[in-house]
Amino acid sequence: MEERKPVIAIVVPCYNEEEALPHSVPELLGVLDDMSARGIASPESYLLLCNDGSRDHTWQTIEEFHRADKRVKGLSLAHNRGHQYVLLAGLMEVRGKCDAAISIDADLQDDPRAIADMVTEFNKGKEIVYGVRSCRQTDTAFKRTTAHAFYSFQRAMGLETVYDHADYRLMSDRALGMLAQYGESNLFLRGIIPQIGLDNAIVRYERNPRVAGESKYPLSKMLSFSIDGITSFSARPMRWIFLTGMTLLVAALLVAVYVLISYFCSDHISAGWASIMLSVWILGSLILISIGIVGEYIGKIFNEVKHRPRYAVRDVLWD
Ligand code: UDP
Ligand code: MG
Repeated sequence: MEERKPVIAIVVPCYNEEEALPHSVPELLGVLDDMSARGIASPESYLLLCNDGSRDHTWQTIEEFHRADKRVKGLSLAHNRGHQYVLLAGLMEVRGKCDAAISIDADLQDDPRAIADMVTEFNKGKEIVYGVRSCRQTDTAFKRTTAHAFYSFQRAMGLETVYDHADYRLMSDRALGMLAQYGESNLFLRGIIPQIGLDNAIVRYERNPRVAGESKYPLSKMLSFSIDGITSFSARPMRWIFLTGMTLLVAALLVAVYVLISYFCSDHISAGWASIMLSVWILGSLILISIGIVGEYIGKIFNEVKHRPRYAVRDVLWD
């Protein structure tokens, strides 16, 4: 009996991509043809193009592709919600309708040839396969440096992410089911997916320039994305307030010794200097410590309101 091949769904977020889609759709369909010819994916594999409330003719372009080839499917959000949200919408749409989903940007900056490698890893039993850039020579030096600063800062803040991995990845249908349990509204998929766990692998690829159109991620959006990532995953900045307060309290005690020695041993200090110095240092550190303590509780509330799943069961042996 012939082995059943996995149905692969390629999910593509599209915002104002009317120029890029005519290049990328044929190329992605070519990848599907190639995979089914090589026997690594089912011929029923498909593309889901997800329109993120574009203002140009992206949706009309998607409709045309759908009419021409039913393997091209479409989903359209009512308004522009941003890459992470439209991607989640797409992944949730294909959940239960594929064996694995691969997310890739419409501009094909992430080499589509890595898709077959990801599916091969999936066929070997991996449930999450991360696409990792092996070089960034085609990005501008500025984009490269800011992107690396972004990963390092996240690490320092205690966020578990995969280095040089954006949102180009494969997830099995089971991993999609686990992702569905995360009900948070501040989405940062690169932080959530490593938390899911499961068997994973990495596939390396080279990052190309955009096929057409221009980047929808200027520095301002990247910065706000980075801050979102940290504030959605880490209460560490609040602990820093507490630690700063404690350090200042130690400094305040040293200042107090200095002030008292000056007060008793020097005869030309101004009236009121000693009491002002002592109050500024001691009160300042006490205020920071208090804010830090309040912060610890807010950190707890922050974790509770997310209603994240408390655990994910991988296997059960029971008979
Ligand atoms: N995108 C989106 N909604 C947005 C901005 C971008 O769906 O509000 C999509 C865009 O169409 C592309 C992907 O997200 O498929 C990545 O965007 P872009 O290539 O502009 O970012 P960059 O690669 O420059 O960081
Ligand atoms: Mg891009």
